[in-house]
This record gives sequence, structure tokens and C-alpha cells, in this order.
Amino acid sequence: MGKNEYDVIIVGTGVGGASVGRDLSLAGRKVLFLEKGGHIKRVGNTVSAALMTTKFGFTRSREKNWIVSVCNYGGSSNLAAGCAAPPPKIVFDPVGIDLTNEAGEAQKELWINNLPDELTGRSNLRLMEAANDLGYNWEKFEKYIDIDKCEPNCSDCMNGCSRGAKWTARVYGDEAIQNNADIKLHARVDKLIIENGRIVGVEGKRMELRFKYYGKSVVLSAALGNAPILQRAGIKEAGMGFACDYLQFIGGISPHLSSIGANPMAVGTMEHYESDGIVILPVFYGWGTFALHLGFMGPKYLPKFFNFWKYTGVMVKIRDDIRGRIFPDGSFSKPISREDRLKLSKGVEIIKKILKKAGCNDNSMFVADPLGAHPSASCRIGEVVDTNLETRIKNLFCCDTSVFPSSLGLPTMWTTVSLGKRLAKHLDKIVLQ
Ligand SMILES: Cc1cc2nc3c(=O)[nH]c(=O)nc-3n(C[C@H](O)[C@H](O)[C@H](O)COP(=O)(O)OP(=O)(O)OC[C@H]3O[C@@H](n4cnc5c(N)ncnc54)[C@H](O)[C@@H]3O)c2cc1C
Repeated sequence: MGKNEYDVIIVGTGVGGASVGRDLSLAGRKVLFLEKGGHIKRVGNTVSAALMTTKFGFTRSREKNWIVSVCNYGGSSNLAAGCAAPPPKIVFDPVGIDLTNEAGEAQKELWINNLPDELTGRSNLRLMEAANDLGYNWEKFEKYIDIDKCEPNCSDCMNGCSRGAKWTARVYGDEAIQNNADIKLHARVDKLIIENGRIVGVEGKRMELRFKYYGKSVVLSAALGNAPILQRAGIKEAGMGFACDYLQFIGGISPHLSSIGANPMAVGTMEHYESDGIVILPVFYGWGTFALHLGFMGPKYLPKFFNFWKYTGVMVKIRDDIRGRIFPDGSFSKPISREDRLKLSKGVEIIKKILKKAGCNDNSMFVADPLGAHPSASCRIGEVVDTNLETRIKNLFCCDTSVFPSSLGLPTMWTTVSLGKRLAKHLDKIVLQ
């Protein structure tokens, strides 16, 4: 195999790309990662978090709805809250995919743990007690956290975790690199090289220079970036529809509670998931994202920033519809439909009751505008890729949240790793044989 030739070229180093690359490198395959972002090493603060996001967080839909997108080695997992939820059958049964085995394998590798009370945080325990007193069914949520490295009274998971206590896709990426995978950072793929209906390589730009790499197979794991690449290759249905798991934060003020120092999404409930498509979990913005979102909402909201340190936040996240659209220039549209608003409202009303029961004053409650943190379902299984995640261009695959058949409305990483493991087996045992 020549210098620029690989068994598999993987575009993007988020959870989807890193899991395929790691398993294939362990199987002895020659792997190349191409990552548009850089590699910020000192993580765990607001500045590093902002530097990792695409356009410093200024990514909004054509309707001005904020959708978070991360562009750095490890992708969005760097800023994830670390909350673990297994692949939901309700999403994968309709397309005939059973991820039970791969989810079991992933469970052993993703540092999934139940946190003891001192790491869960006093505010979270108080909210759980208040919710359960009202008759809801809250419990602790598992997290991708190494308990030995995690510290009490810390809520920095979504800044990247300076202690390295949170599992991210970098763990798999680093393992792949130790197993001789190559990685090129600041390498943005923009074109596929196709010969006789079969993928043979990719093209792109790195430090203003054009590059070409050749591979027996290519896996697109660029999340929001997949659709424009596929559209340019003639797969016009890519990006026709996408979801983002719209969520809303509700903050309340009580002298006995605060989101600061409370481990995000360490407790909550899925009791409304199958019936209403919503999950409820305590978590609030970091100060930087709070300021940014208040700015997006309008100048009259900016004074709320001064209450940031007092707020206790709870989030409703929904299984939104797939009426979004990604355009060839990378811009996107993602309206909030009437059905989405009804789901969000249901969650907001439940959360207000719980915050009140936990001691927050009615007048202190602040309901932020919806935002999306899980862009997904833009290259759906059954429409853009088949159940092996292959597109109609031979040996060209997608593997990340974009292949979800519909919105998950849940933490996505366990599901995406499970899909990555399943694809790695298919590539190793069938495609590359
Ligand atoms: C704030 C926040 C909190 C979250 N909390 C949780 C949580 O608690 N639990 C959970 O399970 N999930 C959580 N999530 C969701 C989860 O982190 C993401 O859904 C998941 O990491 C997405 O993985 P991915 O591989 O699909 O894509 P991404 O992580 O988006 O990776 C895509 C990668 O591709 C690169 N790329 C894009 N275009 C190109 C191109 N043209 N060429 C080369 N590279 C390219 C990007 O730079 C990026 O690194 C959270 C997300 C956010 C934003």
C-alpha cells in the first residue's frame, strides 16, 4: 500500500469516527483520520470550550435557532455532560437494527458509572427528592466518569473536564493512534473521489494546500458536515431533513440550591420518554454559553446574566421532528414545529413544579429559548445509508449521529459508539476481506 493509501479513511474524529477507527486499528487495519479542527490540549475552562466550538459558538439556523457544533479532535464529546443512556429500541427497531451486543461491549469501555452522592451533588439530590415527593420517578443517571479522578462540587464536564475524569472520543482516538492510525488535523474534506460508482479517496484542504488521500473504504463521520459532502457527490437526499433534540433550560433561584458545583445530568427521569418524547435532567449553561444565549435572545435578557451564579437549572430535551434541512454551503434550516413546542411546554410545566417544590420562588423562574445540541438524522438509515451504513456509492459509509433514523431525544454517545462498533465489524469481516 502506498504512502497516501489506507484501508479506511475516516472523516471526523467525534464519537462516530473515533469508535470505527479505534476498532479497525486494533484489528490491524491501516486507518487515517482527517479532522477539520485542531487539538486543544488544555481543556476544562470556558475559553477552551469556546475555542472548540464551530465559529466560537455562533452557529445558528436560518431561523436563528442556536445549534451547538464542535470542531476539534474528539468532536462534541469534549463538551458533552457525560450522561450515559443506552441505544433506545424505539428508534432502532423500526429499521431492524439490534445494537444489544455492541452496546454491551461499549458499556465496558466508556467508563460508565453510577456516581456516589458526594459526586452527584447536593442540589441534584434535593431536586430528585422534590420531584419524587411530587410523584415523579427520578433516579440517578449513569455517567461516563472515572470516579477516582472526579471531584465533588465540580460542574465542569461541559467545559471539557481538566482532570481527564470524563470519557471522550479522544480516548478511542488516542488508542487508535497508538495502534498506528494516522491523523491529520486542520484537514477539511470537501470532495469525494469516485471511480465507476465506487469510492477511492477524498480531497480537501489543509493549511490552504489541497490534499488527496486514497482508501479502500471511506467513513464520513463529520456530523453536520456529511450532507454537503454527499450532496456534492450527487446524493441529493442527504440533508433533506434533520433533527437536533431541541432542549430548553429552566432556571430558578433558591438560597439552598445552585447548579454551580452540581454534576450535570447526574439525576433525572426518562419516565416521559416513550409516552411524550421528553427527558428531564438538571443541568444549566456555563457562564459563557449563558451570556451568548441571552445575547441571541435579545438585549432585554442580558441583565439576567447577573443572576447566573444563583440559578439552578433543569433541562427538558425532546425527540424533535426531522423537518430541518442542510444546504450545500453548510448552512441549515431547523424550524421549531408546533409538535416540538408542545413537547417542550409539557416539560417546562413539569420542571417549574419541581423547582418550586425544591424551594425556588415563582418570580425567579427563567425559561430560555430552545436550542439544539445533538444535530442528527440528516443521512438517515433507510434513506441515505442502508442498514450497514453504506451509501449508494460503493464502500462509502456514514457513521455518526447523522445516520440515526429519527431523533433520539437522549444523550447520543453510547448509541453512536455502538453503531461504530457494528460498522467496524462489517468493514473488517466483509468489506476489507
Ligand atoms: C454541550 C453538549 C452536551 C452533551 N452532553 C451529552 C451527554 O451528556 N451524553 C451524551 O451521550 N451525549 C451528549 N452530547 C451529544 C454528543 O456529544 C454528540 O451528539 C456526539 O458527540 C456527536 O458525535 P458525532 O461523532 O456524531 O459528531 P461530532 O462529535 O460532531 O464529530 C464530528 C467531527 O467531524 C469534524 N468535521 C466536520 N466536518 C468535517 C470535514 N469536512 N472534514 C473533516 N472533519 C470534519 C468535526 O470537526 C468534528 O470533530 C452533548 C453535546 C453537546 C454539544
